[in-house]
Amino acid sequence: MALTGMAIYKLLPKTNCKDCGFPTCLAFAMQVAAKQKALTDCPHLDEKAKDAFAESSTPPMKLIKIGPDGDTCIQLGQETVMFRHEEKFRNPPALALTIPATLDDAAAGERLETINKAVFTRIGQEIAVRLAAVDIEGLSAEAAATRVKTLSDASRVPFVLMGTNAGAMAAAVGAIADKRPLVYKATEDNAEAFIKIAAENKCPLAVGAADLEKMAALVADAKGKGVVDMILAFDGKDTAKTIRDMNIARRAALKKNFRDLGFPSMADVACENDRKENVLAATFAAKYASVLIMNSADGGELIPVLTVIQNIYTDPQVPNTVEAKLYEIGDVDENAAVLFTTNFSLTYFSVENEVERSKVPTYICVVDTEGLGVLNAYAGDKISAEKIVKTLQAQGVADKVKHRKLIIPGLLPSFRAEIEDTSEWKEVLIGPESATGIPGFLAEKWK
Ligand code: SF4
Repeated sequence: MALTGMAIYKLLPKTNCKDCGFPTCLAFAMQVAAKQKALTDCPHLDEKAKDAFAESSTPPMKLIKIGPDGDTCIQLGQETVMFRHEEKFRNPPALALTIPATLDDAAAGERLETINKAVFTRIGQEIAVRLAAVDIEGLSAEAAATRVKTLSDASRVPFVLMGTNAGAMAAAVGAIADKRPLVYKATEDNAEAFIKIAAENKCPLAVGAADLEKMAALVADAKGKGVVDMILAFDGKDTAKTIRDMNIARRAALKKNFRDLGFPSMADVACENDRKENVLAATFAAKYASVLIMNSADGGELIPVLTVIQNIYTDPQVPNTVEAKLYEIGDVDENAAVLFTTNFSLTYFSVENEVERSKVPTYICVVDTEGLGVLNAYAGDKISAEKIVKTLQAQGVADKVKHRKLIIPGLLPSFRAEIEDTSEWKEVLIGPESATGIPGFLAEKWK
């Protein structure tokens, strides 16, 4: 949180010595607040003032990392707003799928393989499971270390290590310390040992407690003992309490600059009921979990949650667009179908998916509508028959096919006459209103 000029002035020696080049400390403070000067330009600052300024320059919620540096490293936190419409949410939550300790080695390997394959594509972006929650409860130290090492060597994703036995946890973390697993979790019962494990191995630590006061005390204790990256762990079983606590923790960090709760949150929603787990995960992702521990590894259950996360963490101030250009779908030639759509990502990828499903080679002419879908673009005057004709010309579509048939969205039937009257596209076909109708339409109309 940036300091005001008066707050900066209070940190200064107030001697008006002019060594900074300004006549008074107050004048210098105003320049620092306006970011015209650095506080360090005053050579007489004491350590307390330097620390206070450093703290004020640090984001109220810390950015934490799970996993080794590189493509698979998970970055969480550093959120700055309570509500997405205030600006945007920054680092999307990661789903952590469990690998139970009760599975034998072969079954644990199969489970990991399922997690490795949990990668999907939606509106042109990859959405995936990004963590595995490896349970070591009940395993000996040696067995925990061996299992964790074997699984880690075959894993696409970093690990959350789950257990309550300090000996087994120390062995497991030590076996893959270079992979920076999340140590789950320090509680009032095991705090001393688990904080030591995380600090010695320089790994992130989950901290859980019965209430927020105790959680903040544990965080302060861990900070004092050298743990840098932490995550506030809520058990997720009491939905109302979890939402309330995650809200209070975030508000305390962002609005009150309360550093001992200035970390991202996580919730364990794993249960035997996939649907319940799914709903809880989506709910907590919205308010405000950064890691969600789940059991289900079924794509049909995971994709809805991943979709919710993708939607919430899309920047609301930036239109979700694709490049306005001519796209070739399939083995196009001079007989390929031609249709147009808008550059709103969701619209484009819906159309593209359905064209691919139709197996009819097709040119898709994408018109720049500033990221609006068909009806919104029409209502907002971002698309017109004239603009479509100009876009077709600019993209050289007529040079690529020998026919002059153009398929237009069924939501814009009124454009047909004007396009036929004002362009070389003399046979305009009114397509389906929804992208899902494209395969049937092409099968029937595009001979
Ligand atoms: Fe004040 Fe520091 Fe500038 Fe001296 S150098 S006038 S103490 S701000």
